[in-house]
Amino acid sequence: MPTLSRRDTVIGAGLAAAFGLTGRLIIEPAFAQKTADPAKGFASYKVGSAEVTAVYDGIFEKPHDPAFIANASVEDVKAAMTKAGLPADFVSITGTVVVVRNGGKTILCDAGTGGQAMGWVGGKMTANMTAAGIDPTKIDTVLISHFHPDHIFGLMAKDTNAPVYPNAEIVVSDVEYKFWTDPAVIDKLPEARKGLARRIQATFPTWKNVRQVTGEAEVAPGIRFVMAPGHTPGHRAFHLSSGTAQLMLSNDAMYVPALNVAHPEWRGQYDQDGATAEATRRALMDRLAADKTMVAGFHFPFPGVGQITKSGADYVLSINKA
Ligand SMILES: [Zn+2]
Repeated sequence: MPTLSRRDTVIGAGLAAAFGLTGRLIIEPAFAQKTADPAKGFASYKVGSAEVTAVYDGIFEKPHDPAFIANASVEDVKAAMTKAGLPADFVSITGTVVVVRNGGKTILCDAGTGGQAMGWVGGKMTANMTAAGIDPTKIDTVLISHFHPDHIFGLMAKDTNAPVYPNAEIVVSDVEYKFWTDPAVIDKLPEARKGLARRIQATFPTWKNVRQVTGEAEVAPGIRFVMAPGHTPGHRAFHLSSGTAQLMLSNDAMYVPALNVAHPEWRGQYDQDGATAEATRRALMDRLAADKTMVAGFHFPFPGVGQITKSGADYVLSINKA
């Protein structure tokens, strides 16, 4: 059960009245965000001599859906959200990218939604990064954990697909790259993922700054890829070390901690291969608990960094204060 330090402010329809807005105000359900954004959209901390900044991108308040978790009911999911101290009337999925400054390089870890991922109120990363004193045009390297929209659409300009980081090196897993750029994959994917594959095939292969990496290579100063398949075939965690200090960016291995940390066995729709995803997250959480390694998750409640511990067979995530 995640221990949350963030105060959850739930804003309902009453807000419109409080602001003196009239009945003519129309709020599309997908954009009537109920969760307040963090008061400050970035948080910085050190890992050894590396400077790490968590940058808030946005939130997807996912409506409940009986098909979301194959082996849990909507009531089970609601109970898990409540136990984590989160609102129960939707699944709270925040997005937080991480910027690492180490060895003279500025490294962006995943690129966020770019304000273009369906269901999200996102795309706040660039403004929050700038507020944190990081110039988006000075990013040297972008590490990509996997090719889902909330992690890569920030690489692609809306409407034109122009590269947002033409001067940075974009580092991806070779397995992930080959899976999504195979023309034959479109026929094999569920309908909801076909458009994503088409967009990937229209962009990445035409860009000259995408580097494919095999296995667990060092991909930037002090950072290695860690194989973490299941969520997607080439999903990678990132391991940062500086001196004796370490940080694991688990990315989407345990994507919604209220569900995936508390119930690693739950088979969620977003994991492409449920059995492999479960084995990956158990192995990763066992390693993090045993080594007492700090962990940052892309969808962990902001600022998204904390510690995994084990209580019997159960895993517990504590999130640090912003
Ligand atoms: Zn994600």
